[in-house]
Amino acid sequence: MVDYRLNDEHEQLRLAARSFAQKEVAPVIGEHYEREEFPYSIVAGMGRMGLFGLPVSEEYGGMGGDYLALCVALEELARVDSSVAVTLEAGVSLGVMPIYRFGDQRQREQWLPRLASGEILGAFGLTEPGGGSDAGATRTTAELRGSEWVINGSKAFITNSGTDITGFITVTAVTGTKPDGRNEISTIIVPAGTPGLTVAPKYSKVGWNASDTHELAFDDCRVPAENLLGERGRGYAQFLATLTEGRVAIAALGVGLAQGCVDECLRYVEERSAFGRRIGENQAIQFKIADMELRTHTARLAYYDAASRMLRGEPYQKQAAIAKLASSNAAMDNSRDATQIFGGYGFMNESPVGRFYRDAKILEIGEGTSEVQRMLIARELGLPAE
Ligand SMILES: Cc1cc2nc3c(=O)[nH]c(=O)nc-3n(C[C@H](O)[C@H](O)[C@H](O)COP(=O)(O)OP(=O)(O)OC[C@H]3O[C@@H](n4cnc5c(N)ncnc54)[C@H](O)[C@@H]3O)c2cc1C
Repeated sequence: MVDYRLNDEHEQLRLAARSFAQKEVAPVIGEHYEREEFPYSIVAGMGRMGLFGLPVSEEYGGMGGDYLALCVALEELARVDSSVAVTLEAGVSLGVMPIYRFGDQRQREQWLPRLASGEILGAFGLTEPGGGSDAGATRTTAELRGSEWVINGSKAFITNSGTDITGFITVTAVTGTKPDGRNEISTIIVPAGTPGLTVAPKYSKVGWNASDTHELAFDDCRVPAENLLGERGRGYAQFLATLTEGRVAIAALGVGLAQGCVDECLRYVEERSAFGRRIGENQAIQFKIADMELRTHTARLAYYDAASRMLRGEPYQKQAAIAKLASSNAAMDNSRDATQIFGGYGFMNESPVGRFYRDAKILEIGEGTSEVQRMLIARELGLPAE
């Protein structure tokens, strides 16, 4: 039977996240955004709610929920603000999950309780200045010298990598050559503050302005050999799995943004008048809002479908790519239409839809561009790789 209604636990979480977003995020996030400030107190609040440990078992300080729970919370947060939502999204899907999925017992015990409580954030360094889509072309190297990895190279656009509470960055690096001549890629945990790791000043971005993003340089950066995450040479497979899962979370975030546009427009068209009547009485405006609702609803079904396949342990690569593509399209189209409906006020930074407009674009780029999603769907359909 197909049933995409949320169960009671997910519904309760949805209401709690909605209330938090409305009471704790909405009143202050505009100022953080304008000042490009990381919202530490909001992140601490999300930590107290257990949001960073949603899909982590209670044994490691988590909430013992599932990945859909994370998605539901992300959707409700992004309905109000995407900088806050992506801090949670990257914190869990890129920070927590690689340790939870691939870490050994010692690494899990060392990092997960503090990650799950929001005391520290983990980051994931895959993209390099030379390219992100072709992630297998990693140039950063890690050489095992005695009991230490010596890392050299750089990473670009790494979320949550330079906050006061960043605990570590998980880095992909070339650790050798495979018998077939291809690069052997492994994943290594680099604790924040390790000598040889330089965190560049934060980027000035078009959107997600209250989130934390940095370029990182590794110059003979040494970490203990036991900081290898999982098996040596499994880095490529690990990041593919991490990104597939993360796409579902990013899709939920995009659906939240798309829904936020519908929420804001429904309110605004009732209060704004032109030509002697409320603008919501114009069919042209109503049709725009109907299309926004259509995109939001179909993108939500797409991510519910991908998440339920993931939870049932079925292949879900194609569905994750479809969900991410549908959701980023919905976010872009809805934020453009919502800004249009708000007229001049939509172009003001103080209006939420102006913020949605700026925040939507990155959804077509991060965690695999829209072109990469189409490549993945085409491959799943059996079409030849280029
Ligand atoms: C705010 C922000 C936060 C980020 N956070 C993280 C993070 O935490 N960790 C991390 O590792 N990365 C992160 N990224 C990086 C992000 O994942 C990459 O920007 C993204 O994967 C694209 O890589 P690129 O920017 O190098 O673009 P490129 O790979 O250089 O691509 C450029 C363009 O060419 C297109 N293209 C490339 N190859 C093909 C092809 N074969 N066919 C058709 N089109 C193609 C792409 O779709 C794109 O439009 C973040 C980026 C931003 C902006």
